[in-house]
Amino acid sequence: MPCETVKIGDSYAIVCSRGRRRKTCLYCSREHEFLCDFPVGKTKGGKTKTCDRPLCRKHSLKGVSEGVDFCREHYPIAKAAYERRMAAFKND
Ligand SMILES: [Zn+2]
Ligand SMILES: [Zn+2]
Repeated sequence: MPCETVKIGDSYAIVCSRGRRRKTCLYCSREHEFLCDFPVGKTKGGKTKTCDRPLCRKHSLKGVSEGVDFCREHYPIAKAAYERRMAAFKND
C-alpha cells in the first residue's frame, strides 16, 4: 500500500491510499467482474445484504436465476437451498 507524508500546518501526517485500484478477484489477481449475490443478512434499512466478494469471469459460479453469481463458498449452499425448494414444491 503506497503511503506518503503530508504536511498539515506544523505537523506531518502519513496518508496511505487505499482502493485506488479496482478490486481483484477473490481467487486470482484478475479484475473482478461480478460480486457474490448470496444473502448474508439484512442492512439497517431492511434491505438484503449480500456477500459481495469480488469474482472474475472464470471464478464466478452462475446461479439458477439469470444475473446471479456466487463465490465458491456460497454456490453449494445456494444450490442446496434451491434443490430443497424444488423438492418441497414437488411434494405439494
Ligand atoms: Zn478469478
Ligand atoms: Zn459469497
